[in-house]
Amino acid sequence: MQMRKVYNWQLGRNASYVYPQNRPKKQWAMVFDLNKCIACQTCSLACKTTWTSGRGQEYMYWNNVETKPYGGYPTAWDMGILSKLGMQDWDGNKYAGRTLFEAAEKDEKILQHIAAEEDWAHPNIGEDEITGMVGKGDYITMPHKIWMFYLPRTCAHCTYPACLSACPRKAIYKRPEDGIVLVDQSRCRGYRECVRACPYKKPMFNAETRISEKCIGCYPKIEQGLMTQCITNCIGRIRLGGFVNTPDKAVKENPIDYLVHIRKLALPLYPQFGTEPNLFYIPPIHVPTTYLKQMFGPQAENAVKTYLEIRNDMTLKGLLVLFGSMERIISSFRVDGKTAAGFDEKGNEIVKVPVTEPTFIREFYDAKLQAYRHNTP
Ligand code: SF4
Ligand code: SF4
Ligand code: SF4
Repeated sequence: MQMRKVYNWQLGRNASYVYPQNRPKKQWAMVFDLNKCIACQTCSLACKTTWTSGRGQEYMYWNNVETKPYGGYPTAWDMGILSKLGMQDWDGNKYAGRTLFEAAEKDEKILQHIAAEEDWAHPNIGEDEITGMVGKGDYITMPHKIWMFYLPRTCAHCTYPACLSACPRKAIYKRPEDGIVLVDQSRCRGYRECVRACPYKKPMFNAETRISEKCIGCYPKIEQGLMTQCITNCIGRIRLGGFVNTPDKAVKENPIDYLVHIRKLALPLYPQFGTEPNLFYIPPIHVPTTYLKQMFGPQAENAVKTYLEIRNDMTLKGLLVLFGSMERIISSFRVDGKTAAGFDEKGNEIVKVPVTEPTFIREFYDAKLQAYRHNTP
């Protein structure tokens, strides 16, 4: 298979891809603060009730939330492909191993892990399971050795999409205006090459219509300057959507660029796969570094250190408060003194929130109502 060389900033080097480099004018991206996700699955259901409540879509969760290290939808999707890929070495911030495109078998475009039908049948298997055993008399301290965390996932609208590269019908395309990756339902013939090729296992087959479907990045909302359903409905306010630039064009007022490029707090999921995914995760602080490095790359340890210092960092603290504060897309932000403000593309202020919520302590006895207040349930 003839491959092209494209620049992948997440790997710090040129890497193989099936087509020449063709970046969109803007790239839609999401940031998730994994220290705050509570696995309430509101995001999964917000997506499901909006987009996948039809026939043939019963098993589909374009957005899912799995418990790491044991959970996965489909089951063991990441362990399957990681063990096939073998050693994944980094030389500093440069990836020294092979990507999935570079490790492709003869006549294939990408190294693949194919999920079995039953792997799709248990979307929440492994939920709340932890590594290690809590023995009699043991207790958990923070950070602790016995650990788990929740990982919300959607399609990553990759810069070098594996799904797109594998489609023999050229039914998958990446929109130049926002980088969202879509399946043209009228061209797709249901060969399922995308389902096999995507390492994140995000295209899904509809047995009723016999064609493939995937997360559409809520593009009708993005076109109106609004964030996606899975972001705006997030109970934990762990998500922020926006547009990411390449590191050389990073804008420090852009909240996504600030988190990803300037502070390097939000990191891509399995960058070593080589698709340059556009979902970025603030790693959980209580998980072993070796695990985090395999999942989020060599910057994981520094990202945890930065997060632990946030209480002394007004800009980051203010930016995290803007997560989930507004349905409209925040193009730029500013933190001054006690407030964090978000602005639209034209520079109009669309949200302003206090960095620290004020606390009000009410009198134990309310003389006006002649009533006592207490906190006993
Ligand atoms: S996550 Fe998978 S389905 Fe989404 S763009 Fe990347 S390769 Fe395609
Ligand atoms: S972006 Fe929209 S379509 Fe994609 S997972 Fe979120 S809610 Fe679903
Ligand atoms: S809605 Fe938010 S907090 Fe709840 S599971 Fe989804 S990402 Fe996590």
